[in-house]
Amino acid sequence: MIQLADRYSNLGTETAFTVSAEATALANSGTKIYPFHLGDINLKTPGNIVEAMMRAVENGKTGYCPNSGIPELKEALANNINATHGTSYAAENVSVQPGGKPVINKFLLALMNPGDEVLYPNPGFPIYESLIKFYGGKAVPYGFREGKDNFEIKLDEMLRSITPKTKLLIFNDLHNPTGYEAKEQEMQEIARVVRDHNLLVLDDEAYYDIRYSGESRSLASLPGMVDRCVLLYTFSKKYAMTGWRIGAAIGPKDLIEAISRFNVNDESCTSHFIQHAAVEALTGPQDGYREILKVLKERRDKTVDILNSIAGIRCYRPHATFYLFPNITEAMKIKGISHQDRFRTQALEETGVSFCTRLHFGSALPGETDSYIRLAYSGIDIDQIEEGLSRLKAFIEG
Ligand code: PLP
Repeated sequence: MIQLADRYSNLGTETAFTVSAEATALANSGTKIYPFHLGDINLKTPGNIVEAMMRAVENGKTGYCPNSGIPELKEALANNINATHGTSYAAENVSVQPGGKPVINKFLLALMNPGDEVLYPNPGFPIYESLIKFYGGKAVPYGFREGKDNFEIKLDEMLRSITPKTKLLIFNDLHNPTGYEAKEQEMQEIARVVRDHNLLVLDDEAYYDIRYSGESRSLASLPGMVDRCVLLYTFSKKYAMTGWRIGAAIGPKDLIEAISRFNVNDESCTSHFIQHAAVEALTGPQDGYREILKVLKERRDKTVDILNSIAGIRCYRPHATFYLFPNITEAMKIKGISHQDRFRTQALEETGVSFCTRLHFGSALPGETDSYIRLAYSGIDIDQIEEGLSRLKAFIEG
């Protein structure tokens, strides 16, 4: 019998992958599946990026490279971020990583002592809570409420939760799973909280460029924030590169050096030839990216329109991300189902429509009474959205 380390029992997981496995098992037994469960993308990585990767392999970019990334990519990332954020990062502020996810791990490893309190969004990307707990921190959630046009952050709740032990804030504007986006005033308030309580921030900007109208803003752009924020950057979503595994941590030089030391100890470096492809992604033509956005926007509109036509469902139309987080409280009543996960499994079995629920993004918080599901429209074509959601409509309305 293998005895795992004691700390292992504190390690969580990303249960969206479990939903994905369930859907695949059903598909293998002949059920047609409409996949809304995972934030993966069924669009091709733009051709110029693929070609740059092939060229890099042919040119022998297949050995180890600097632990923190090749200089060309670090420079391209710094320039790219500066152009959109109004910052003045240099290559020394960038540490290239095999994806955005490793930034979460390395940020916590570098900064959090056991017992430190970390504010994190719940519902939120489940890896935050998993890793805070794994490394012995105290995970302190803040939630969201329904506002006029979109979700709003419960800033009052965040403020009440701050204690002398609060050291870090995890902030994910353009939020997975709700599609929440901070309003100017909220962003200013958050910056004030960060300054007043001397916090450091993991600013998860995974969806910064997945935006259909308006302009993204960064917490790091606000006064005093650049020295307090580590940005999580990823190529996964913007360029349909989820499986390539490439992203970066961008922030204060000393902290970035600490983060890069984990690369030395961990993966040595991010794949060398993939870094060259990432340079092309940032500096080459952006037609592929624009086409990805165009397709996603059409899918968003179709999904939102159909969801809002279903009895007992209400859904916002966020300007960014490729997630929707409709309120299904009334729909569950219509179906006579009292548990969100039961609603999910019954819908999956009877219609093939596969999605996650609020519970895949953290445990419900005290006082939470409504039920939600999360749909990602990044991995399903528009005709399948139409077909799948009309089946969901029939399932609910009978
Ligand atoms: N942060 C958020 C909020 C996400 O939703 C994801 C992926 O779904 C990530 C980070 C990590 O993405 P990746 O590791 O593919 O860059």
